[in-house]
Amino acid sequence: MAQRVAVSDGANKKVSRVRVVIRLRPYMGTQDEKDEGSCVRGLDSKNLEIINWRNATETVKYSFDVFHGEQTTQQEVFLSVKPILPHILTGQNASVFAYGPTGAGKTHTMMGTLNQPGVIPRAVREVFKMVNAKKEDEGWDYSISMSYLEIYNEKVLDLLSPGSQDLPIREDKDKNILIPGLTHTTITSISDFHKHFVPASLNRTTASTKINQRSSRSHAVLLLKVVRTQNAPPHRQQAGKLYLIDLAGSEDNRRTGNQGIRLKESGAINLSLFTLSKVVDSLNSSTAVRVPYRDSKLTRLLQDSLGGSAHSVMITNIAPEYKFYFDTFGALNFASKSKLIVNKPFICETVPALPVKRARDGQEAGRSATEPQ
Ligand code: ADP
Ligand code: MG
Repeated sequence: MAQRVAVSDGANKKVSRVRVVIRLRPYMGTQDEKDEGSCVRGLDSKNLEIINWRNATETVKYSFDVFHGEQTTQQEVFLSVKPILPHILTGQNASVFAYGPTGAGKTHTMMGTLNQPGVIPRAVREVFKMVNAKKEDEGWDYSISMSYLEIYNEKVLDLLSPGSQDLPIREDKDKNILIPGLTHTTITSISDFHKHFVPASLNRTTASTKINQRSSRSHAVLLLKVVRTQNAPPHRQQAGKLYLIDLAGSEDNRRTGNQGIRLKESGAINLSLFTLSKVVDSLNSSTAVRVPYRDSKLTRLLQDSLGGSAHSVMITNIAPEYKFYFDTFGALNFASKSKLIVNKPFICETVPALPVKRARDGQEAGRSATEPQ
């Protein structure tokens, strides 16, 4: 099994945190609503403001890593994700998730359309491009595989194997998260990817119209895994994972407030989203003793890819219309908490032979990335 080895680059230990990107979608209100205008306004490439509901003459200002206004193209959004992608070629983990209320543009951002492809097809294309470029000059063999799953009602369902049962999430001795039984399909090109991804996405969309807007209540998780193996002894192997996630709509979660009681009333649908917010809080708190990753399926899955081990980008999608006001407010507050997460990258590596000299160079195999070095 692949082992996690903390990244050490001498005195300057690398630290990366979750990058928080906000994307405001274009105004789409009805003719009547058009008079109301927007309740959100971009200020510059990092800052935005929203009307203060307590006092409409005031605004509340937020600052993020990137603010993408209404005119932003799919390519520009992708460029804020692109810098984390090279890490998965060297055994590190990365995740991108789209957060925000239903109707704010999560699926447009992640999947996009044929004419305006989103982050997912662009990221997959980029990974193939990087792997093909690397192949020329290095002594490693690369293999790329994909998995596609949905978390719905706290059940993990394999979208590449329709009709499959709830799958368990496990952790191996090296703290890698894995899902036994999940389909991993090897893909060799972008068209190969589409061949598997498109029908699986369509299946999900069809189901959503039947089962009470399922797509706004479930988390769609695409996993791209890059495994590279050294051609020559000791045939080291590194495995990097990239999660690309279209989260459930954040609106129900917020209506339940921040106490757990009312959450129960709205069912387990948003337990994962609710826990994601608690995980973010704990990661930001210097006093929290335990990060509640295990309290939901989504956070359990992301345990090795959010907070402490990975490179993450959270794209918070918001809508400008007044009817989204409280959802927008909640989403911005969630996003501004997330800004403070500190991630420490790690390398996921296997050495098939018995301990080799490298183990003495401060890169002890099997050490958890969260342990101090
Ligand atoms: P969500 O997945 O968050 O519920 P969608 O991605 O389905 O939201 O977006 C809701 C609607 O808004 C869709 O009709 C989508 O095409 C449109 N939309 C979202 N973002 C944009 C954008 N940046 N530009 C143009 N249309 C958009
Ligand atoms: Mg959607």
